[in-house]
Amino acid sequence: MRSTTALRRVVAVGVAATLLVACSGNDTPVAKDAETATAGSDDLAHGSTTAEPDNLAHGSWAEAIENANLLVDLDQDARKLLSVFPTGSGNKISELDIAGSNPSYFDQFGPALWRQCERVDVYISVDPSIAPELRASARTLAVNAILELNKLTGLTLVVRSGATEQHGEFFDPTVDPDAPGFRELDVFWYDTASDAPPDRFGIADAWHSGPDALEQSTIDGSVNVTSKDSPTQQASLLRSRISLSTEILHRLPGRADLDEDGSQFAERSQSMAVLHELAHVVGIGHSTAKDSFMYPRFSDQTRMTTPDRATLALAGSRPC
Ligand SMILES: [Zn+2]
Repeated sequence: MRSTTALRRVVAVGVAATLLVACSGNDTPVAKDAETATAGSDDLAHGSTTAEPDNLAHGSWAEAIENANLLVDLDQDARKLLSVFPTGSGNKISELDIAGSNPSYFDQFGPALWRQCERVDVYISVDPSIAPELRASARTLAVNAILELNKLTGLTLVVRSGATEQHGEFFDPTVDPDAPGFRELDVFWYDTASDAPPDRFGIADAWHSGPDALEQSTIDGSVNVTSKDSPTQQASLLRSRISLSTEILHRLPGRADLDEDGSQFAERSQSMAVLHELAHVVGIGHSTAKDSFMYPRFSDQTRMTTPDRATLALAGSRPC
Protein backbone atom coordinates (compact mmCIF):
# COMPACT_ATOMS: atom_id res chain seq x y z
CA MET A 1 0.00 0.00 0.00
CA ARG A 2 1.76 3.14 -1.15
CA SER A 3 -0.85 5.72 -0.27
CA THR A 4 -0.39 8.04 2.67
CA THR A 5 -1.48 7.15 6.14
CA ALA A 6 -4.22 9.73 5.93
CA LEU A 7 -5.70 8.15 2.81
CA ARG A 8 -5.47 4.70 4.27
CA ARG A 9 -7.33 5.90 7.32
CA VAL A 10 -10.24 6.91 5.14
CA VAL A 11 -10.47 3.71 3.16
CA ALA A 12 -10.04 1.34 6.09
CA VAL A 13 -12.02 3.04 8.79
CA GLY A 14 -14.85 0.51 8.90
CA VAL A 15 -12.63 -2.44 9.51
CA ALA A 16 -10.25 -0.61 11.79
CA ALA A 17 -12.96 0.17 14.31
CA THR A 18 -13.59 -3.50 15.03
CA LEU A 19 -9.97 -4.53 15.02
CA LEU A 20 -8.85 -1.77 17.31
CA VAL A 21 -11.32 -2.89 19.92
CA ALA A 22 -10.00 -6.40 19.63
CA CYS A 23 -6.40 -5.34 20.22
CA SER A 24 -6.91 -2.78 22.90
CA GLY A 25 -5.59 -5.08 25.58
CA ASN A 26 -8.74 -5.40 27.68
CA ASP A 27 -10.93 -8.46 27.81
CA THR A 28 -13.33 -7.44 25.07
CA PRO A 29 -14.32 -10.63 23.28
CA VAL A 30 -13.09 -10.69 19.73
CA ALA A 31 -15.81 -9.80 17.26
CA LYS A 32 -16.81 -12.25 14.56
CA ASP A 33 -14.02 -11.04 12.37
CA ALA A 34 -12.14 -13.21 9.98
CA GLU A 35 -9.05 -12.36 11.94
CA THR A 36 -8.35 -11.53 15.50
CA ALA A 37 -5.71 -9.67 17.38
CA THR A 38 -3.14 -11.85 19.05
CA ALA A 39 -2.35 -11.36 22.67
CA GLY A 40 0.63 -9.44 21.39
CA SER A 41 0.01 -6.12 23.00
CA ASP A 42 3.38 -5.42 24.38
CA ASP A 43 4.81 -3.78 27.38
CA LEU A 44 8.54 -3.58 27.05
CA ALA A 45 9.15 -1.28 29.93
CA HIS A 46 12.23 0.71 30.68
CA GLY A 47 14.14 0.23 33.89
CA SER A 48 12.30 2.74 36.03
CA THR A 49 9.17 0.67 36.46
CA THR A 50 9.02 -1.80 39.30
CA ALA A 51 5.86 -3.65 38.32
CA GLU A 52 6.45 -7.33 37.75
CA PRO A 53 5.50 -8.62 34.33
CA ASP A 54 2.24 -10.49 34.53
CA ASN A 55 1.80 -11.87 31.04
CA LEU A 56 4.45 -14.56 30.90
CA ALA A 57 4.02 -18.13 29.76
CA HIS A 58 1.32 -19.42 27.50
CA GLY A 59 1.68 -22.38 25.23
CA SER A 60 4.31 -24.63 23.77
CA TRP A 61 6.50 -24.44 20.67
CA ALA A 62 6.24 -28.22 20.20
CA GLU A 63 3.79 -28.09 17.30
CA ALA A 64 5.83 -25.46 15.45
CA ILE A 65 9.00 -27.48 15.94
CA GLU A 66 7.43 -30.68 14.63
CA ASN A 67 6.30 -28.88 11.46
CA ALA A 68 9.32 -26.62 11.08
CA ASN A 69 11.08 -25.92 7.81
CA LEU A 70 14.04 -24.04 9.24
CA LEU A 71 15.63 -21.51 6.90
CA VAL A 72 18.31 -20.37 9.35
CA ASP A 73 21.45 -22.30 10.25
CA LEU A 74 21.61 -22.93 13.98
CA ASP A 75 24.56 -24.19 15.97
CA GLN A 76 24.31 -27.42 17.91
CA ASP A 77 23.35 -25.79 21.21
CA ALA A 78 20.44 -23.96 19.60
CA ARG A 79 19.34 -27.06 17.71
CA LYS A 80 19.25 -29.09 20.91
CA LEU A 81 16.57 -26.72 22.19
CA LEU A 82 14.34 -27.80 19.32
CA SER A 83 13.74 -31.26 20.74
CA VAL A 84 10.20 -32.27 21.58
CA PHE A 85 9.08 -34.89 24.06
CA PRO A 86 5.74 -36.04 25.48
CA THR A 87 4.51 -34.99 28.89
CA GLY A 88 2.73 -37.43 31.15
CA SER A 89 -0.65 -35.92 30.31
CA GLY A 90 -0.50 -36.64 26.59
CA ASN A 91 0.73 -33.19 25.58
CA LYS A 92 4.09 -32.34 24.11
CA ILE A 93 6.71 -29.96 25.35
CA SER A 94 9.99 -28.70 23.91
CA GLU A 95 13.36 -27.83 25.41
CA LEU A 96 12.71 -24.30 24.16
CA ASP A 97 9.61 -24.02 26.38
CA ILE A 98 11.64 -25.10 29.37
CA ALA A 99 14.26 -22.47 28.52
CA GLY A 100 11.56 -19.81 29.05
CA SER A 101 10.54 -18.94 25.49
CA ASN A 102 6.85 -18.41 24.68
CA PRO A 103 4.70 -17.86 21.61
CA SER A 104 2.85 -14.52 21.53
CA TYR A 105 -0.37 -16.34 20.57
CA PHE A 106 -1.20 -19.97 21.12
CA ASP A 107 -4.28 -22.13 20.69
CA GLN A 108 -5.00 -25.86 20.46
CA PHE A 109 -3.43 -25.90 16.97
CA GLY A 110 -0.19 -24.32 18.13
CA PRO A 111 1.37 -20.86 17.83
CA ALA A 112 0.42 -18.21 15.25
CA LEU A 113 3.24 -17.53 12.77
CA TRP A 114 3.73 -15.87 9.39
CA ARG A 115 3.95 -18.30 6.51
CA GLN A 116 7.48 -18.24 5.17
CA CYS A 117 6.71 -17.98 1.45
CA GLU A 118 4.77 -14.74 1.87
CA ARG A 119 6.44 -11.36 1.77
CA VAL A 120 5.57 -8.85 4.47
CA ASP A 121 5.51 -5.20 3.36
CA VAL A 122 6.82 -2.71 5.89
CA TYR A 123 5.75 0.96 6.11
CA ILE A 124 7.65 3.25 8.44
CA SER A 125 6.04 6.49 9.65
CA VAL A 126 7.28 9.04 12.14
CA ASP A 127 5.63 11.58 14.36
CA PRO A 128 6.44 14.96 12.72
CA SER A 129 7.16 16.52 16.12
CA ILE A 130 10.33 14.43 16.46
CA ALA A 131 13.42 16.54 15.65
CA PRO A 132 14.70 15.93 12.09
CA GLU A 133 18.04 14.50 13.21
CA LEU A 134 16.35 12.06 15.56
CA ARG A 135 13.82 11.12 12.87
CA ALA A 136 16.63 10.01 10.58
CA SER A 137 18.14 7.85 13.35
CA ALA A 138 14.75 6.37 14.11
CA ARG A 139 14.13 5.42 10.49
CA THR A 140 17.60 3.88 10.12
CA LEU A 141 17.20 1.97 13.36
CA ALA A 142 13.94 0.46 12.13
CA VAL A 143 15.36 -0.48 8.72
CA ASN A 144 18.44 -2.15 10.24
CA ALA A 145 16.36 -4.05 12.77
CA ILE A 146 14.13 -5.37 10.00
CA LEU A 147 17.17 -6.57 8.03
CA GLU A 148 18.44 -8.30 11.17
CA LEU A 149 15.02 -9.87 11.75
CA ASN A 150 15.11 -11.30 8.21
CA LYS A 151 18.53 -12.82 8.91
CA LEU A 152 17.48 -14.30 12.24
CA THR A 153 14.15 -15.73 11.05
CA GLY A 154 14.53 -16.38 7.33
CA LEU A 155 11.34 -14.37 6.74
CA THR A 156 11.13 -11.72 4.02
CA LEU A 157 10.14 -8.31 5.31
CA VAL A 158 10.57 -5.56 2.72
CA VAL A 159 10.60 -1.86 3.60
CA ARG A 160 8.26 -0.21 1.10
CA SER A 161 8.29 3.34 2.39
CA GLY A 162 9.58 5.60 5.13
CA ALA A 163 13.20 4.39 5.10
CA THR A 164 14.57 7.88 4.47
CA GLU A 165 13.42 11.43 5.07
CA GLN A 166 13.34 12.04 1.36
CA HIS A 167 10.45 9.69 0.86
CA GLY A 168 9.52 9.73 4.48
CA GLU A 169 6.02 9.17 5.67
CA PHE A 170 4.55 10.93 8.66
CA PHE A 171 1.47 10.27 10.75
CA ASP A 172 -0.74 12.24 13.07
CA PRO A 173 -0.04 10.95 16.61
CA THR A 174 -3.29 12.35 17.96
CA VAL A 175 -5.35 9.98 15.80
CA ASP A 176 -5.61 6.23 16.43
CA PRO A 177 -3.92 4.40 13.58
CA ASP A 178 -5.84 2.16 11.20
CA ALA A 179 -5.41 -1.56 11.29
CA PRO A 180 -2.48 -2.48 9.05
CA GLY A 181 -3.11 -3.85 5.58
CA PHE A 182 -2.96 -7.53 4.70
CA ARG A 183 0.57 -9.01 5.01
CA GLU A 184 1.77 -5.66 6.25
CA LEU A 185 3.84 -4.37 9.14
CA ASP A 186 3.33 -0.74 10.10
CA VAL A 187 6.08 0.88 12.13
CA PHE A 188 5.18 4.09 13.98
CA TRP A 189 7.75 6.21 15.81
CA TYR A 190 6.15 8.38 18.49
CA ASP A 191 7.79 11.37 20.11
CA THR A 192 8.07 10.91 23.86
CA ALA A 193 6.69 14.38 24.36
CA SER A 194 3.52 13.82 22.37
CA ASP A 195 1.50 10.65 22.34
CA ALA A 196 3.92 7.90 23.24
CA PRO A 197 2.61 5.18 25.48
CA PRO A 198 3.76 6.19 28.98
CA ASP A 199 6.54 4.19 30.64
CA ARG A 200 6.99 2.07 27.59
CA PHE A 201 9.58 1.67 24.88
CA GLY A 202 7.06 0.18 22.51
CA ILE A 203 3.87 -1.69 21.84
CA ALA A 204 3.40 -4.52 19.38
CA ASP A 205 0.10 -5.69 17.90
CA ALA A 206 -0.51 -8.51 15.47
CA TRP A 207 -3.61 -9.94 13.88
CA HIS A 208 -3.97 -13.56 12.90
CA SER A 209 -6.37 -15.88 11.16
CA GLY A 210 -8.02 -18.54 13.26
CA PRO A 211 -10.19 -21.58 12.61
CA ASP A 212 -13.11 -19.14 12.11
CA ALA A 213 -11.27 -17.54 9.23
CA LEU A 214 -11.59 -20.73 7.24
CA GLU A 215 -15.30 -20.10 6.95
CA GLN A 216 -14.94 -16.47 5.98
CA SER A 217 -14.56 -15.66 2.33
CA THR A 218 -13.05 -12.20 2.56
CA ILE A 219 -11.15 -9.81 4.72
CA ASP A 220 -11.80 -6.12 4.05
CA GLY A 221 -13.97 -7.22 1.15
CA SER A 222 -10.94 -7.80 -1.03
CA VAL A 223 -8.61 -10.53 0.14
CA ASN A 224 -9.58 -14.16 0.12
CA VAL A 225 -8.88 -16.28 3.13
CA THR A 226 -10.33 -19.55 2.00
CA SER A 227 -9.46 -23.11 2.86
CA LYS A 228 -7.05 -22.95 -0.08
CA ASP A 229 -5.25 -19.99 1.43
CA SER A 230 -5.15 -21.55 4.90
CA PRO A 231 -4.71 -25.26 4.34
CA THR A 232 -4.53 -26.14 8.01
CA GLN A 233 -6.23 -24.96 11.15
CA GLN A 234 -3.04 -23.35 12.31
CA ALA A 235 -3.36 -19.65 13.00
CA SER A 236 -1.39 -17.50 10.54
CA LEU A 237 -0.24 -13.98 11.25
CA LEU A 238 -1.74 -11.56 8.72
CA ARG A 239 -1.19 -7.96 9.84
CA SER A 240 1.03 -6.28 12.35
CA ARG A 241 2.07 -3.02 13.86
CA ILE A 242 4.74 -1.76 16.20
CA SER A 243 4.53 1.59 17.94
CA LEU A 244 7.93 2.76 19.14
CA SER A 245 8.76 5.59 21.51
CA THR A 246 11.73 7.94 21.16
CA GLU A 247 12.44 6.90 24.77
CA ILE A 248 14.42 4.14 23.06
CA LEU A 249 16.71 6.77 21.53
CA HIS A 250 16.96 8.79 24.72
CA ARG A 251 17.55 6.00 27.22
CA LEU A 252 19.43 3.19 25.53
CA PRO A 253 22.96 3.09 24.12
CA GLY A 254 23.22 3.54 20.38
CA ARG A 255 25.73 2.03 18.03
CA ALA A 256 28.46 4.57 18.82
CA ASP A 257 28.11 3.96 22.56
CA LEU A 258 28.71 0.23 22.37
CA ASP A 259 32.06 -1.48 22.77
CA GLU A 260 33.92 -2.09 19.57
CA ASP A 261 33.30 -5.82 19.72
CA GLY A 262 29.68 -5.42 20.79
CA SER A 263 27.07 -6.07 18.17
CA GLN A 264 24.19 -3.67 18.32
CA PHE A 265 21.81 -6.63 18.26
CA ALA A 266 23.69 -8.80 20.75
CA GLU A 267 23.38 -6.64 23.84
CA ARG A 268 21.09 -4.09 25.44
CA SER A 269 20.80 -1.26 22.93
CA GLN A 270 18.43 0.85 20.86
CA SER A 271 18.60 -1.78 18.11
CA MET A 272 17.73 -4.55 20.50
CA ALA A 273 14.67 -2.70 21.77
CA VAL A 274 13.35 -2.36 18.23
CA LEU A 275 14.15 -6.00 17.55
CA HIS A 276 12.20 -6.95 20.70
CA GLU A 277 9.03 -5.38 19.27
CA LEU A 278 9.66 -6.93 15.87
CA ALA A 279 10.05 -10.36 17.48
CA HIS A 280 6.55 -9.97 18.94
CA VAL A 281 4.98 -9.39 15.55
CA VAL A 282 6.59 -12.52 14.13
CA GLY A 283 4.90 -14.54 16.88
CA ILE A 284 7.30 -14.49 19.82
CA GLY A 285 6.00 -13.66 23.28
CA HIS A 286 7.85 -12.68 26.42
CA SER A 287 10.49 -14.97 27.84
CA THR A 288 10.64 -15.90 31.50
CA ALA A 289 14.46 -15.93 31.30
CA LYS A 290 15.75 -12.68 32.75
CA ASP A 291 18.75 -12.46 30.41
CA SER A 292 16.65 -12.91 27.27
CA PHE A 293 16.04 -9.88 25.06
CA MET A 294 12.39 -11.03 25.11
CA TYR A 295 12.10 -10.57 28.87
CA PRO A 296 9.67 -7.66 29.41
CA ARG A 297 12.27 -5.43 30.98
CA PHE A 298 15.81 -4.66 29.91
CA SER A 299 18.65 -4.90 32.41
CA ASP A 300 22.43 -5.16 32.35
CA GLN A 301 22.03 -8.91 31.78
CA THR A 302 19.93 -8.48 28.66
CA ARG A 303 21.38 -10.18 25.59
CA MET A 304 20.51 -12.36 22.63
CA THR A 305 20.55 -15.83 24.21
CA THR A 306 20.80 -19.20 22.52
CA PRO A 307 17.08 -19.88 23.16
CA ASP A 308 16.33 -16.46 21.62
CA ARG A 309 18.17 -17.42 18.44
CA ALA A 310 16.39 -20.76 18.27
CA THR A 311 13.00 -19.08 18.78
CA LEU A 312 13.64 -16.51 16.04
CA ALA A 313 14.62 -19.26 13.61
CA LEU A 314 11.46 -21.11 14.55
CA ALA A 315 9.36 -18.00 13.97
CA GLY A 316 10.34 -18.15 10.29
CA SER A 317 9.88 -21.89 9.91
CA ARG A 318 6.15 -22.19 9.10
CA PRO A 319 5.90 -23.84 5.69
CA CYS A 320 3.28 -22.64 3.22
ZN1 LIG B 1 7.58 -7.15 24.85
